[in-house]
Amino acid sequence: MTKKRIVLRFPNDLLEKPVTYHLIRDFDLVVNILKAKITPREEGLLVLAIEGERKNVEAGLEYLKNIGVQTQPLIEDINWDSTRCTHCTACVTVCPTNAFRIDRNTMRVEFDRNKCIACGLCVDICPYHALEIIV
Ligand code: SF4
Ligand code: SF4
Repeated sequence: MTKKRIVLRFPNDLLEKPVTYHLIRDFDLVVNILKAKITPREEGLLVLAIEGERKNVEAGLEYLKNIGVQTQPLIEDINWDSTRCTHCTACVTVCPTNAFRIDRNTMRVEFDRNKCIACGLCVDICPYHALEIIV
């Protein structure tokens, strides 16, 4: 048996598609939804834990790719270098858990590590390289 924790990103034309149902029925996978959200850019975002026979997990991931769902594995952790951060708020718009938020009093970005699920979505979007993946 194989277990994977993955982040799925859907274009908005796939939001209605019963993807988790297909993973369960067609690929015999155990699927646990860890997080689900529509991002401000109208993308769907799901964080899933999936478990099953290795070949079924691979076939399920191939199915997702073929229908246009982007997948990426969850990373271990991220590091926020606050000395590089310019508080541009780009990470706030993509963070699905509000781990990054704006303090309305100071208008500065704050990071709550306890809310971070290590999906990695903020890392590539940071223009100042203030975020890095820890593996
Ligand atoms: S995207 Fe980078 S620079 Fe902008 S607020 Fe987030 S961590 Fe700071
Ligand atoms: S990795 Fe970044 S985007 Fe993902 S939950 Fe943590 S802070 Fe938010």
